[in-house]
Amino acid sequence: MDYLWTPWRYAYVSTAEKARSCVFCDAVKLGNDEKARIVHRGQQCFVILNTYPYTPGHVMIVPYAHLDELQKLPSEAASEMMVLSQRMESVLRDLYQPDGINLGMNIGKAAGAGIAGHIHMHVLPRWVADANFVSVVCETRILPETLDVTWERMTKALSS
Ligand SMILES: [Zn+2]
Repeated sequence: MDYLWTPWRYAYVSTAEKARSCVFCDAVKLGNDEKARIVHRGQQCFVILNTYPYTPGHVMIVPYAHLDELQKLPSEAASEMMVLSQRMESVLRDLYQPDGINLGMNIGKAAGAGIAGHIHMHVLPRWVADANFVSVVCETRILPETLDVTWERMTKALSS
């Protein structure tokens, strides 16, 4: 086997990784919560719609702090994350009448995190028949609601 010795490539890859901006940090800085699809801003964490939802109503609870591990998160932010999880469970139950709720975090790329640099908690409503033939076989998900409509309904529910 031949090896290509490319130390310059490591420098390029590691700086490219650092320079890349973070979608969560960018969303907070955007200054337009409707465009950023932020539905709630708390003291330590905010709630944002998932741009590629698994089911309608799929949100993420994200600390403002750009951290890649849960253990690095200060306990006040971790507590607020859990309080907001309860709040979102209640909002999702009211708005979507799901049969169940998925709540969870993927920490690190190997664990399936799409945005590995900034931890986030997924909260999504589930129905008995949602993991159906279409989504399993065709990698296609049927979303009966646009993100604009979800944003509208959710901000209204959260402000009442
Ligand atoms: Zn970030």
